[in-house]
Amino acid sequence: METNSSGGGSSSGSLGSSSTMILHNAVIVTMDKESRVFRNGGVFVVQDRIKAIGQSADILQQFSQMADQIIDLQSQILLPGFVNTHVHTSQQLAKGIADDVDLMTWLHDRIWPYESNMTEEDSYISTLLCGIELIHSGVTCFAEAGGQHVSEMAKAVELLGLRACLVQSTMDCGEGLPASWAVRTTDDCIQPDSSISFNFVSSSQKELYAKHHHAADGRIRIWFGIRQIMNATDRLLLETRDMAREFKTGIHMHVAEIPYENQVVMDTRKVDHGTVTFLDKIEFLQNNLLSAHTVWVNHTEIGLLSRAGVKVSHCPASAMRMLGFAPIKEMLHADICVSLGTDGAPSNNRMSIVDEMYLASLINKGREVFANGTTDPAALPAETVLRMATINGAKSVLWDNDIGSLEAGKKADMVVVDPFSWPMVPVHDRITSLVYCMRTENVVSVMCNGQWVMKNKKILLLMRGRLFQLQDKLLMNF
Ligand SMILES: [Zn+2]
Repeated sequence: METNSSGGGSSSGSLGSSSTMILHNAVIVTMDKESRVFRNGGVFVVQDRIKAIGQSADILQQFSQMADQIIDLQSQILLPGFVNTHVHTSQQLAKGIADDVDLMTWLHDRIWPYESNMTEEDSYISTLLCGIELIHSGVTCFAEAGGQHVSEMAKAVELLGLRACLVQSTMDCGEGLPASWAVRTTDDCIQPDSSISFNFVSSSQKELYAKHHHAADGRIRIWFGIRQIMNATDRLLLETRDMAREFKTGIHMHVAEIPYENQVVMDTRKVDHGTVTFLDKIEFLQNNLLSAHTVWVNHTEIGLLSRAGVKVSHCPASAMRMLGFAPIKEMLHADICVSLGTDGAPSNNRMSIVDEMYLASLINKGREVFANGTTDPAALPAETVLRMATINGAKSVLWDNDIGSLEAGKKADMVVVDPFSWPMVPVHDRITSLVYCMRTENVVSVMCNGQWVMKNKKILLLMRGRLFQLQDKLLMNF
């Protein structure tokens, strides 16, 4: 499958990492503006970027002499790396601790006690394990929803070779908080007084930004977080909004998850509907806000989100477990950028964006019966869902100038899918097959920033500029 070109140099890592590389003889699904698909396509990668993309014959003819490595993909499918826009890497070690319980029990009795007791090492291992599962499903970029010990998350992301927008779990008020969190003030969440020396102070959001933004060859970005409105004062909301504007970064927040949340907002903040109405009133809605879930919104609120350019992360499995049917079809019709997320392991159990694509299409077709009294098999067609997992994901994490589609000039974040095994054979329509037939197991290789992070289903870790294969026995320790 791999050949060195006649003029090629040697690989820098034992598992094959080259500074110039041609991948050819692939079905390339670009997800670019014209939705181009090359039946026999090739890409020329120089370091971390796609230098050229087109017909295999043209790419080989033009660039073979310059390529360190030429890889024949043998008619497999090449896609942009998937973007998972809502995942809790801190929660990976909590997989299975909160199955089949209501949301407030889930949160107050299971997840918060777990998260508030996490050590730095727990966070590191949790992110590493989560990342391994994400890579297997073809994810090259994810948006952390707000977790513990961001510096340890960053260490794991650097090693995994992934791209990520990391966020600290941020709360400054609310009922049911564990004791160690309840003492946190608004100032602690944003910028601590340096004369105070509580442990948590060392991880204020501005400090994390200064330390990790653009780290790991630019693969890590630091965003600001609001865990949810019931744990945020108005001052925290407004200062977070202003801070994100000043630092030119994004805000990740859980929004309108359950009717109870909307009711609390109506009672305490004196608005006639829920969280989105209130966030509009205080001018919090803006185009760098990634609004997770966003299930309980009415028609007017969909208009508010659309006008402000807010991005929505739809997490179908998690919504079905605990939240409800989000009006995704209506949001897409209102030109809201909707992407896909897995949410965390205790609210989904499967960290597979491949499964989320399948679910997103089915759930939103089925919802039509509930919403309009009749099915609509045309709701959320496969191409729309594929866009949600790729280019819409990239737009949602404010990174679409670099990722989300395969185009010359963009970063080399790519996924190789093998369609020649039982879940996908026969392939009559490549796009529908990717959404309705593909399983996580069909994802064979993943590249991020021009480096293989998984090759032939073996996870590779990036250490001191070299790639090492993850030993499966390491996972046996869990
Ligand atoms: Zn979440």
